[in-house]
Amino acid sequence: MTFPYKEPFSVKPLEIWSFIPKKAMVIFAHPDDAEIGVGGTAAMWSSKECEVTYVQCTSGSSGSNDKTMTSKKITQIRLDEQKSAADVIGVRNFINFQFPDGELESDRTFLYQMVEVIRKYQPEVVMTHDPFRINGFQHRDHRMTGITVQDAIYPYARDHLHFPNQIEKGLTTHKVKTLLFWGSDNPNTIVDVSQTTKLKISALSKHASQVPGLSFGSELDTKIRERMNKVARGYGFKYGESFRKIEARS
Ligand SMILES: [Zn+2]
Repeated sequence: MTFPYKEPFSVKPLEIWSFIPKKAMVIFAHPDDAEIGVGGTAAMWSSKECEVTYVQCTSGSSGSNDKTMTSKKITQIRLDEQKSAADVIGVRNFINFQFPDGELESDRTFLYQMVEVIRKYQPEVVMTHDPFRINGFQHRDHRMTGITVQDAIYPYARDHLHFPNQIEKGLTTHKVKTLLFWGSDNPNTIVDVSQTTKLKISALSKHASQVPGLSFGSELDTKIRERMNKVARGYGFKYGESFRKIEARS
């Protein structure tokens, strides 16, 4: 029997990306998302003089299974954890929008703030959640974040007639060259993070309220490393982080 189409699920080799930007921005919904998605890449870039800016969109105020925990308490715990993790990664700027956890909407308010930080920090590369995952559940906040980031980059941050009051206030338009989505069903790019996987695990372990028991040699550490090793298989290095990369037309 012959199929009427060619290998619909065939996987193309990923492009090995070794570019080090001067400025990168990691935009994530909740504390710990950044380290899970791009901890190795962000730490590696930081170590090579890249100015990494973190933008945390929600406070993480719903992230607890403990029935005695309050939103106010978990917000403070997670903020402290996120700041410690960012220090391990070598993050230079930390912005916190503090929207309530689970209540993000891809609306004008969110878009305005996103465009504003992009115009202010002028990153060459932006990294965020892939909003278009179809092979599994994903948190609504992740989807809202990914969609809003993509919109903010093109065309809003780039064109001066969008949110012109930001330009009047002294910000300048900005064209982001590359957008990297993590957690993608269809990655096309891989970054060698063999040198900074340890830092990624160390940063992730700061989120003790979310990943209790994560330490070097723990079961979870082994699992994370196995996954990152599997991603890198066949590319000539030990650990990788993969992305769906889209680039702005020049
Ligand atoms: Zn999240």
